[in-house]
Amino acid sequence: MKSIKIKVPATVANLVCGFDILGMAINEPYDEMEVRLLETPDIIVRHTDGFNLPEEASKNVAGIVLMKMQEHLHLKNGFEVIIHKHIKPGSGLGSSAASAAGAAFAANILIGNILSREETIHFAMFGEELASGVRHADNIAPCIYGGITLVKSSDPIDIISLNTPGLFIAAVHPQVEVKTSDARQILKKNIQLKDAITQWGNIAGLIAGIEKNDLFLIGRSLNDVIVEPVRSILIPEFDTIKRKSLEMGALGGGISGSGPSVFMLTEKKKTAGDIAMMMKSVYDQININSMVYVSDINSTGIIIEEQNN
Ligand code: ADP
Repeated sequence: MKSIKIKVPATVANLVCGFDILGMAINEPYDEMEVRLLETPDIIVRHTDGFNLPEEASKNVAGIVLMKMQEHLHLKNGFEVIIHKHIKPGSGLGSSAASAAGAAFAANILIGNILSREETIHFAMFGEELASGVRHADNIAPCIYGGITLVKSSDPIDIISLNTPGLFIAAVHPQVEVKTSDARQILKKNIQLKDAITQWGNIAGLIAGIEKNDLFLIGRSLNDVIVEPVRSILIPEFDTIKRKSLEMGALGGGISGSGPSVFMLTEKKKTAGDIAMMMKSVYDQININSMVYVSDINSTGIIIEEQNN
């Protein structure tokens, strides 16, 4: 029977000032998924990780994506998916997006590659809706496309793939719980015009910096006057980590997705490594366990590791 094994990258959504529209794929951490086409119409989800995620198809983001594909594309076949998850759920590193995007990507190949990338994203967004209640594509798009993406619109889906600067990322995931729904609820519903002007200046500057490979412009555009001031209070020692990272040479950074992970961009891998160690020691000092990652930007998106026809 047809089967496929894929490698699915973690993603950093928002990129500080681009709330809900910008995202970046990174090489570490990543999930692996094996998906098999079944003769029967069953949708079977299994996990080999210890995260205790639901295996009932309708409650797992990979399962719901496969169910929606089966229903909307009138497929007679079912799918079995085995998820080897390394991206911790609730980390803000696109754990749910990886499973949703991976399921849509793999299933599409198994049914003969009939979907465009936009259609694949459309199905993957059902997974994000299950995880957070919102059909957003800011993690899904970079997961599938690789690199840095701009979700110009999610209805209709309009994704712009940006240049991939040769930067490094230090990220820390402090083991505290920040629910995506809580992180959304505390946001202000209205913003001041002066803040909006500052923010769109930063977003435009960031995109221009990415396209021109102008690291100084990227660094001075990585400022968020709307979401970070509100959300950062949910993340212990956020200000300390950000201040120390900038002192150590980070271009800039902030909350990854809805948190609690915090990421910093650097020009050199060594700086990212040093910052990751500093991040860990800040949390060690206040007895909060943390995971740190040093990575470069993933430019390929999901890749096929094995395929059997
Ligand atoms: P993240 O930003 O790390 O993706 P989210 O809060 O958006 O975190 O998503 C995690 C939520 O999605 C958890 O409630 C988890 O139980 C649920 N979930 C369901 N299936 C999966 C899956 N296959 N992978 C990850 N999370 C899943």
